Amino acid sequence: MSSQKRVLVTGAGGFIGHHLVGYLKQRGYWVRGVDIKEPEYATTVADEFELLDLRRWDSCLQATRQIDDVYALAADMGGMGFISKNHALILHNNALINLHTLEAARVNGVQRYLYTSSACIYPEYLQTDANVTPLREEDAYPAQPQDAYGWEKLVSEKLCEYYSAEYAIETRTVRFHNIFGPLGTWDGGREKAPAAMCRKVAMAKLTGNPEIEIWGDGEQTRSFCYIDDCLEGLYRLMGSDYVEPLNLGQDRMVTINQLVDIIAEIAGVNVIKKHIPGPQGVRGRNSDNTRLREVLGWEPEIALEEGLARTYAWIEDQVRAKLEHTEVLAGVAS
Ligand code: NAD
Repeated sequence: MSSQKRVLVTGAGGFIGHHLVGYLKQRGYWVRGVDIKEPEYATTVADEFELLDLRRWDSCLQATRQIDDVYALAADMGGMGFISKNHALILHNNALINLHTLEAARVNGVQRYLYTSSACIYPEYLQTDANVTPLREEDAYPAQPQDAYGWEKLVSEKLCEYYSAEYAIETRTVRFHNIFGPLGTWDGGREKAPAAMCRKVAMAKLTGNPEIEIWGDGEQTRSFCYIDDCLEGLYRLMGSDYVEPLNLGQDRMVTINQLVDIIAEIAGVNVIKKHIPGPQGVRGRNSDNTRLREVLGWEPEIALEEGLARTYAWIEDQVRAKLEHTEVLAGVAS
């Protein structure tokens, strides 16, 4: 057991935050989870779970009371469909959350604060080619982040840097590159590409309609990191002495078309890809893990196929349950 530290996870009702609570509990920490909503797909194992709106200063003071370390994950976010259409909402909500949570943590004497940033802070001008050069941490400037989501993340990174330099609180900053896994949002409009593609393939398999819609030509590239690797990286970074922003992701790049092919093979189904207009984000993005390896002596290890197999199995179950529920409702109505 590593310590009796009291840890706060914000965004503990969300995908990564929910998994992180379980990870920290297994390591013997006392954990408070905070979110505006309960976890959607499983019960939390946090010692305390408080429903709080972290845009509010009083909620942030309450959340950070008697806490040693904070993992700050709360954010109003989603996949490309959501972040390309809600710039004002995202900038407003996430700025309030991050300004208030960090200041409340300082006021309450929190020792260490880990902020979860994103690869969306990297300049769009470096990501115009599908065969992109992997992004190094120092590539962040001159800044031209993607969307309001990326701008807000970059400003909050700077906020952490200044708080660390001028106050007693220590900060850590991670830049995630597409984290995926079971218990993440898979429908409703906020889902990200891996979950959306698993859902579409599962629908094709379970309904017998092989057509899958893909935004754009599907040749846009990304790297995808499985949730268990993300948790390991977060924990290692929190325990390290490293104060600069650090990439956390896989450095194996695939196209969205290839992502669909891998999932279809896992599902054992033939699909027909239908390319339609839609938000695609940058043309290419990949993580340069040189610094990650240097700093943490480690990098993500779980193969994309393995992570997708675990994720697909969970999403197929969700889709099947939803289809059965819809059939029951239709039966009742008829
Ligand atoms: P998520 O949407 O599943 O979790 C975020 C949680 O924050 C949600 O449960 C949401 O209810 C909560 N939240 C939103 N507004 C709140 C408020 N006002 N008060 C309290 N809670 C609030 O997202 P996730 O994938 O778990 O991401 C966690 C963090 O990692 C976020 O900061 C996100 O921007 C960052 N990130 C994630 C990815 C990824 O691929 N998943 C990539 C880059 C960065």
